[in-house]
Order: sequence, then C-alpha cells, then structure tokens
Amino acid sequence: MKTPSLPAPVSRRRFIGQLSAAAAAISLMPRLGLAADGPKPAKKLGIALVGLGNYSTDELAPAIGQSQHWRLAGVVTGSPEKGKRWAQRHAFPQRNILGYETMARLADCPDIDVVYVVTPNALHAEHCIAAAGAGKHVITEKPMATSVADCDAMIAACRGAGVRLMVGYRLHYEPHTAEFCRLARERTFGPFMRMKGSNSFDMGDPDPADYNWRVNKKLAGGGPLMDMGVYVIQAACMAKAEEAPVAVTGKFGPVTRPRLFAQVEQSISWTMEFADGALADCETSYAEQVSLFEATAAHGWARLEDPAFYYDEPLLTTSRGVVDLPKVNHQLAQLDAMAAEILTGSPSLAPGEMGRRDIAIVKAIYAAAASGQRTEVKV
Ligand code: NAD
Repeated sequence: MKTPSLPAPVSRRRFIGQLSAAAAAISLMPRLGLAADGPKPAKKLGIALVGLGNYSTDELAPAIGQSQHWRLAGVVTGSPEKGKRWAQRHAFPQRNILGYETMARLADCPDIDVVYVVTPNALHAEHCIAAAGAGKHVITEKPMATSVADCDAMIAACRGAGVRLMVGYRLHYEPHTAEFCRLARERTFGPFMRMKGSNSFDMGDPDPADYNWRVNKKLAGGGPLMDMGVYVIQAACMAKAEEAPVAVTGKFGPVTRPRLFAQVEQSISWTMEFADGALADCETSYAEQVSLFEATAAHGWARLEDPAFYYDEPLLTTSRGVVDLPKVNHQLAQLDAMAAEILTGSPSLAPGEMGRRDIAIVKAIYAAAASGQRTEVKV
C-alpha cells in the first residue's frame, strides 16, 4: 500500500518542525477507530517480518498478534522450514514465505503493505532497499544502518518508490518518554542544559563463537554504541527538542573481556555539545547493567529512571514529583501509532531522517574517540 502523497524531501528544520505535528498521529488514533479498545478497523495492514530472530519472535510477532491494526502477512527468512512453521502459526499463505535473495517477489504479494526489517544492523540497508523496490512501506530496526551513506541510500530508495521509511524507535511511542519530550519541547523547566545518561547491558563473557553478530564489526557496525548507545543519543536529542548536537568528544573504555571484544568496543563514553551550550554526558557498555537518563534546567529537572530504555516501563520523575502515566507494551504502542501515521499520511515520529541523524552522531563519536579530538557533527 502506497502513501497517496509522500512528503517531499524533508529538510532538517522541517523535520524538527514536523515532530510536534507527528505527535498528533497518536492522538488521531481514537478518531480513526485505531484505539486499542475501539471499534475494529475495516482492514488490517499486512506486515512482513524480515529476519526471524529474537526481536521478531519474542516482541514483534506477539505485538502484531495483539494489534487490531496489523496482521502478520508474511516473512523473509533464510530457513524455508522456519518460514512454514511461521505461516502455520500465524495463518498466512505459503506464497508469502520469501528468502533474502527473493525479496523482489514481495511485489507479487498484494496482501503485504509494510515490510519490517529486523536483521543485523549492516543488512538493514540492503533489505530496506529491496522492500522499497517492491513498493512496500518500510519500518527498519535501530540502528537504521551502519553508515550515513547507507541511510542516504535507504531514504532515496523509499522516496523514489513513493513509500514511507520509519525507524523502530519504540520509545517515541511510549507515554513516559513522550511526556519527557513534551517537557523539553515546551521548556516547562526552561531549556535542559545538563544531561547525563547511560544504557548498558552485561553480556557476560561467552565464547565469541557462541555469541552472535553483535560483536562482529562487519555485521553490527560497532559495539554497544550502535546497539544500546543510540537510545542515549536519542534521549539527549529529545531533551533538546530533537535538535542535533554541534560537536562531540568521545573515549573508548577499557577492554576487560578481550576474547569477546576483539572487533568492537566493550564500552564508550561521550559528551554531546549543543548550539546553546547544553552538554550531555553519556555512556554505554556491554559489561554493565544500567539504563537511565536525567536532564536539568534552570527551574527543574526530569529523570527517566532505571531501566529507562528497556522494555519495562520507564518511570518518569521530575522536580514536581512522579509522573503517573499508563503502562503500555512498547512494540504494540509503536506499531499501532505507525499504523495511524500510515493510514492518515501524517509525518512519522521516527522517520528515516531521524535514524540518519543518529548514525551521523554515532560516526562523529567514533571519530572523536579514535582521534581524541572534539569532532563537529555534520547532519
Ligand atoms: P537476532 O540475532 O536474534 O536475529 C537476527 C536475525 O537475522 C536472525 O533471524 C538471523 O537468522 C537473521 N540474519 C539474516 N542474515 C544474517 C546474517 N548474515 N548474519 C546473522 N543473522 C542473519 O537479532 P535481534 O536481537 O533480533 O536483532 C535484530 C535487529 O533488531 C537489530 O538491528 C537490533 O538492533 C534490533 N533490535 C531492536 C530492539 C528494540 O528494542 N528496538 C531490540 C532488539 C533488537
């Protein structure tokens, strides 16, 4: 299904301006009959998952199954047997089981409207471009890609095909995080000027042969910065109303598990510097378990408490007290809001341009850590 009128190429200023308008997509949901407890929509959007690993199996497929607005209509997998099991379990036709090399055949699957790319980071571009070539809207997992050039190619392919490109940034659709964005956007406490955040996960110390692509530089594009750190970058940009930093500094942490971290960093810390002088001190690691973000302004503060970036509900506290908002399933909230964005043709809260911005920041942080120099961010 194509968007009737795709927005023209989005400039940086227009992209920032669109974000508050895009928030309306979520509030539009009840009017469209898209609320979780509202009347059933006339037709569910068909979605195909590309890559049937942990995130597809444990989070996305169950959320699609719970949604009134989506149905799992196909899969792209390297294993036809696995594809058959998925087709049986989710009741879609066997003709909608495709291989990575045969994604062009998506063009012959009219019951698939949207393709969700959930493969290792370095493959997102190839799979996104194939899906766009088949005329399907694309949601791609984070990080959007492993290079800015790949992000540009993905944006160009989707624009050329007249389809949408969205990034699976689930926290943009999570109420506590959305409230944090509102506080930043409306400057409730004044502009946030000091930020601090971490998003880290302890992998333990398995044999690399027993571990997956996340420690393989070619497939992952980097270590925890690509995987977990992107969320901290996102939070810092949210705290500045989606402005990108002007410059960064960075420092790789020590490697205490050398057999696992031979190709990618084990940990990295960095500082983001914004045009108004605001600073965000951030870190990410595959050898720690911490996940939080705090932002301070002249007249108050806001904190996404640990675990700020995990699937558990983040708890938002501010200098005025605890912010009590409904708990949601992150993936369901994201998918339902994206359905509303597609059906109304409204701008996405998490468009490809945002994913590209974040990869430009990631690349600047890696360059700063390698050189030891303050590095300008070119978005
Ligand atoms: P995973 O390893 O569990 O699954 C990856 C899938 O890709 C597997 O089915 C694998 O067979 C397939 N694949 C295809 N080509 C491959 C190749 N050449 N090498 C290795 N695998 C290949 O990984 P995952 O945890 O599901 O992560 C997939 C993507 O989803 C990543 O980009 C990750 O960052 C993202 N993710 C996002 C979130 C989130 O909260 N938004 C959470 C987890 C993962």
